[in-house]
Amino acid sequence: MESAKIIDFQSLTDKVGRFNLRDKTCLIPEMNRIGCHLLAAVFRGFGIHARVMETCKGMDLGKEYTSGKECYPCQITTGDILYAMQEERERLGNAFNSENYIYFMPEADGPCRFGMYNKYQRMVLDTFPELNKVKIGALSTKDGYSLAGIIDDSRVRDLRKTSYLSLVVGDILDRLLWRIRPYEKTAGEADAFIEKAMHLMEDAFERLGPDKDFDSILNELETVIEEGKGIVDSEIPLKPLIGIVGEIYLRTHVQANQDVIRVLERYGAEVVNASIAEWANYTSYDRLREARARFRLCLRQFRFGPLKTLLKDMVGYGGDFYYQRFRQKQTYQRIRSVIDLPEDHEIGHLEEILMKKDLFSFEVGTEACLSIAGIVAYAREGYNGVVNVYPFTCMPSTVTSAIVRPIMNELGVPYLDTPYDSSVQPGREAAIRTFMYQAEQHFRRHGRKKKSD
Ligand code: SF4
Repeated sequence: MESAKIIDFQSLTDKVGRFNLRDKTCLIPEMNRIGCHLLAAVFRGFGIHARVMETCKGMDLGKEYTSGKECYPCQITTGDILYAMQEERERLGNAFNSENYIYFMPEADGPCRFGMYNKYQRMVLDTFPELNKVKIGALSTKDGYSLAGIIDDSRVRDLRKTSYLSLVVGDILDRLLWRIRPYEKTAGEADAFIEKAMHLMEDAFERLGPDKDFDSILNELETVIEEGKGIVDSEIPLKPLIGIVGEIYLRTHVQANQDVIRVLERYGAEVVNASIAEWANYTSYDRLREARARFRLCLRQFRFGPLKTLLKDMVGYGGDFYYQRFRQKQTYQRIRSVIDLPEDHEIGHLEEILMKKDLFSFEVGTEACLSIAGIVAYAREGYNGVVNVYPFTCMPSTVTSAIVRPIMNELGVPYLDTPYDSSVQPGREAAIRTFMYQAEQHFRRHGRKKKSD
């Protein structure tokens, strides 16, 4: 592809934002494989032509069009969109028109670089005359990932509810894999089963999602889980339980983290990774928390003008947060009657952990809020070790590491930092093996979290 030199900064506002997806192809980057495919299926059910882009195939393009100073997820996703466009151009020839695509790249409202990926990628796309009409669909944490405007108003709430359920079901399928794979009767059986299960659930969401027939979707999920249980060899004794926290993209993108969960399993672990729904819950919780704080401040300052808007925000964000909590709890309750998968930490509980020991503050924001509190929660629950997975130089994860290291020493629970970029760190596997040795010792001395806790 030939790139031009001139950059139009106006396009940062004109072509990055929330756009109607009617008659467009919505390209979703693959982060956690299952969740992204289920989300695309939900979108398709609602009449949006959505698909998940292949990931890491465009790594060379990603490296060519970044400087190396960007966060690793930015490099990967830049490569993913450029590769997807290259493939489309080859497939369609003269019929290719970049105006037909909307590239889905959510953002976070600071203070780290996540809010900049889509701006940077806008500038990259604009340097190619044949790609400068691809719009970037940027949902933002600023409004709790509102979907308003992307489809007809009358369908927005249903789309949001169904999308949320697809995230929860994606998390559950991931947790099912990590629960059964370390104990599978035949090597490779669990992976093959989960791949098949993902397609079954994609079909269920596409068919049943638009009518919000959640009961039938969960019936299908229960059937999948029943079948998955059959893969477990009950003769294999329980293994040390390892919790994972960290930056959401790296800890869930298998290629980016060099399949760290499988490496941990190879050295004897059963693993639970922090979920995707946890981030969605956190953003709704945090918007509600901020709206409440602003409301109280206005009252104290006798500024009554903004109160109506703030009250509306509180009702909106509160509705989202409590709905999500209800739906997630209800879903886990159903599947826990079939198999003992761990539930997510409550966001309010995580904030309490931080406040009680004055470890960090939700006022600062970022995933450090979830990671620091999540690590402490894992340790208290009796996990045998915790791993922090993140992109090399990631700001919130480095902060997390600095805060939790002394705490984990005090608690006597093994802890490991695993920063990743596109290189392979010599010694990484040795570090994981040593960590697992410590986790095994912890397991022998203390046992492990009861699976039904
Ligand atoms: S969370 Fe880390 S990896 Fe993601 S944008 Fe912020 S600094 Fe970069």
